[in-house]
Amino acid sequence: MTDPKPKLKKPRGVARLLDGKCIACGARCQSVCPVNCVEMTDSGEPIIEEIKCIGCQKCIKICPASALEMYFTPEELKILAELAVSAAPAEEEVDPEAAALARKLAEYRGVWVFVEQTEGEPAKVSWELLGVGAGLAKTLGVELCALVIGYEVEPLCSEAFAHGASKVYLLDAPVYRHYRTEAYVEGCCHLIEKYKPEVILMGATGMGRDLAGAIATRVATGLTADCTGLAIDDKRNLMQTRPAFGGNIMATIMCDKFRPQMATVRPNVMPMPELKEGAQGVVIRDPFVVAEESVLTKVIEIIRDAHSKSAVDITGAEFIISGGRGLMGPENFAMLQELADELGGVVGASRSAVDAGWMPGDRQVGQTGKTVRPKIYIACGISGAIQHLVGMQDSDMVIAINRDKSAPIFEVATYGIVGDLFQVVPAITRKIRELKQQRK
Ligand SMILES: Cc1cc2nc3c(=O)[nH]c(=O)nc-3n(C[C@H](O)[C@H](O)[C@H](O)COP(=O)(O)OP(=O)(O)OC[C@H]3O[C@@H](n4cnc5c(N)ncnc54)[C@H](O)[C@@H]3O)c2cc1C
Ligand code: SF4
Ligand code: SF4
Repeated sequence: MTDPKPKLKKPRGVARLLDGKCIACGARCQSVCPVNCVEMTDSGEPIIEEIKCIGCQKCIKICPASALEMYFTPEELKILAELAVSAAPAEEEVDPEAAALARKLAEYRGVWVFVEQTEGEPAKVSWELLGVGAGLAKTLGVELCALVIGYEVEPLCSEAFAHGASKVYLLDAPVYRHYRTEAYVEGCCHLIEKYKPEVILMGATGMGRDLAGAIATRVATGLTADCTGLAIDDKRNLMQTRPAFGGNIMATIMCDKFRPQMATVRPNVMPMPELKEGAQGVVIRDPFVVAEESVLTKVIEIIRDAHSKSAVDITGAEFIISGGRGLMGPENFAMLQELADELGGVVGASRSAVDAGWMPGDRQVGQTGKTVRPKIYIACGISGAIQHLVGMQDSDMVIAINRDKSAPIFEVATYGIVGDLFQVVPAITRKIRELKQQRK
């Protein structure tokens, strides 16, 4: 028997500066070096102390001018060539930093959705998030869990199971009766530290935005607000897509060094999952209770906003007739209201119409307004700027009425009507009335 051939160790080389290429970018190479072997000259160029360099290549990757390269001795080059030819599995040196990070990230498992509730009434967005969370959990091969916090909110557990969760973490105590940032942050952080989820999703509502930001700061992780797309990459990172730079580009953001990965999503952005009535799951009732004395905010009385009763919630509407600058003035929205009344729908608006004072802000559809997902969305005199489209493009059917045939709204329209809205809208309303009469 012969001794097995010793495995060749893959040489790592050292970093070197290429003559005349450094653009003195501000010492980025120095800032990333884990072993402090980069010194900067007065002219802003690096001097690399080769004896200390561990060949991690971080400086090479960060250099914006490709001014650094890896240098190998002739002997090292020979070994590299031998390894390439034999394709022998080289004994790679494990980067201790990367290995420690991988170990830390591996401690976190599971996708959690925060179930927002007010006096026991769940926010619909929480169920939408369980829908998207189910896909993420499946890709990751982990459980989809709901996080229910409140007082006497156990019935929400069954609802969470019916919407796809297989486990619920429950904090149920009088101190959690009303949403108060301090109590909810304490409660959530306790559960996060104890059970270590890798993904947490929350609704981008007033409560969700407040809570998510406070938790992310406390547990020192990243948070992406108002995501419009969520997916998992091949390294288990959550790819969080959202509009950036005023909606002109879609950015995909990742939090690859910290856990949990946190994201908020606005209502109506994700579809509702299929309801599985009677679905069962596990309830983990955690006894953690925040001491009432430690919560500085006290809820003395809840006063309902008088405006909210008369206000229209366009996010839940099945038919929306929206008007833009093409309406020419506030008085012409009555024409859209007539059509909405015939359809049993509501009137929405573009930001231009809201900014002009023609419609109240709660009717605005789009990036800085509401996201809607009606069965039918009729856009009247709206050009179709990207900031408007992100708020309505997932409607089941879009009907666009615009006199400019090249208006971008037609790119997302199921049916496009090129014409004067002042003729088209009353004609549609008349036709619907006629059809209703015939049916009687
Ligand atoms: C950061 C940021 C956030 C934003 N958020 C939002 C948002 O949430 N929602 C939003 O809507 N916008 C938003 N905007 C504004 C957006 O960029 C557009 O300016 C706005 O959507 C345009 O509104 P409009 O389509 O009503 O007006 P215009 O772009 O002026 O379009 C009017 C349209 O009416 C048509 N028209 C005119 N007369 C008639 C007629 N008689 N019959 C038929 N068609 C007619 C015209 O051909 C034209 O296409 C945002 C912008 C920024 C920078
Ligand atoms: S290769 Fe790594 S250790 Fe060497 S100089 Fe660059 S950053 Fe520093
Ligand atoms: S990162 Fe590149 S360009 Fe910037 S200082 Fe270092 S070598 Fe020069």
